[in-house]
Amino acid sequence: MTSKKDLLALTHVGEDPHKYMNSVTPPVFMNTLHIFDCMADYYAADVFEDEFCYCRSGNATGAILEKKIAALENGSRAVVFSAGMAACTAAIMATCKAGSHIICIKESYGPVQHLLDDVLKEKMNLSVTYVDGKKLSDFEEAIQENTSLIILESPTTLLFSVIDLEGVAKLAKEHGIKTYIDNTYSTPLFQKPLDMGIDIVMHTMTKYIGGHSDLLGGVLVSKDEELMRKVLSQRDLFGSLQGGMESWLAIRGLRTLDVRLRRHHETALEVAKYLEKHPKVKHVYYTGLESHPQYELARKQQKGECGLLSFELDGDKETTAKFVDALKVFERGASWGGFESLAISYTYSWTKEQCDFLGINNSIVRLHCGLEGAEALIEDLEQAFAQI
Ligand SMILES: *Cc1c(COP(=O)(O)O)cnc(C)c1O
Repeated sequence: MTSKKDLLALTHVGEDPHKYMNSVTPPVFMNTLHIFDCMADYYAADVFEDEFCYCRSGNATGAILEKKIAALENGSRAVVFSAGMAACTAAIMATCKAGSHIICIKESYGPVQHLLDDVLKEKMNLSVTYVDGKKLSDFEEAIQENTSLIILESPTTLLFSVIDLEGVAKLAKEHGIKTYIDNTYSTPLFQKPLDMGIDIVMHTMTKYIGGHSDLLGGVLVSKDEELMRKVLSQRDLFGSLQGGMESWLAIRGLRTLDVRLRRHHETALEVAKYLEKHPKVKHVYYTGLESHPQYELARKQQKGECGLLSFELDGDKETTAKFVDALKVFERGASWGGFESLAISYTYSWTKEQCDFLGINNSIVRLHCGLEGAEALIEDLEQAFAQI
């Protein structure tokens, strides 16, 4: 059950209708600056305390969203960005310096690995060790003198591996290393990493927080105010603030997050159970199934699962593609977290080297179970299985 505190954060926290002519929803602030009565006030404005100035450093609609996310994650401050990747980049920049070493789980979101390998290694002379991460010793063995940051995701969003968050947070603290987690899968309702000792949480709001496939956005949240001041200042310098309209849409998305997530969860669990029994399916990756090798750890850390899951089809990559192409309700697409069901085989184009890196083959299908209900989705999967 979602707590009273969380439900009130989704619906009311951060809002003050009396400030906006008693409007039940806040306005979209479309201004580029705020004006002042005197020079002293202008120079005293602290955007960290929502005293706005020039709008690259902060938008008043975004500030409402930041209060909600901070409350939901039990953080002291959240900072919203134009995209999840902008938030991730800011977290790396705020915690690392030239020559730093990063430990990153090897199942992390692909573009994060591109950012590290193809941009930051060269530009910042960073070094990166990719670890499996299912054992605490994977991290312990990778720590170096100059390790500044550990990048986590749990569950991961292709193979749904779970990381022992409390264990990693404790280990990192002992070595003075910051920890960062992409918590998009669980949303703040199903998992609260800051309470487990993780330093920085990132959400891409493009997925469930937006929830309607109509906005891009990211957010960082932490209990560490000094770090968040740094993050806020970087957002200003990089110009990576989220626009007011997108922040407004994210606020609207949050209002229904709890009810949407319950339906996504219910549907995906039913679909996962159906797939698990299907003779053309070799393996289902979903932390809600008791057959998941880390089911107990997932139950300890997560209050639930969302609509995203994967499975390995019993067939080669062409058969897998044929199956995905045969789906009618599930559309083929790369994102997730919206109302619509999606299917994709990321591994279709992967080289043997890429597959070996994660220990899989080319026959992985990822499904996002949207809001069409389990009956329509299972019927759709059934007719697609019949075609292979
Ligand atoms: C989509 C996604 C991101 C990136 O979010 P953007 O808002 O597109 O930058 C990061 N992490 C995960 C797990 C994602 O699925």
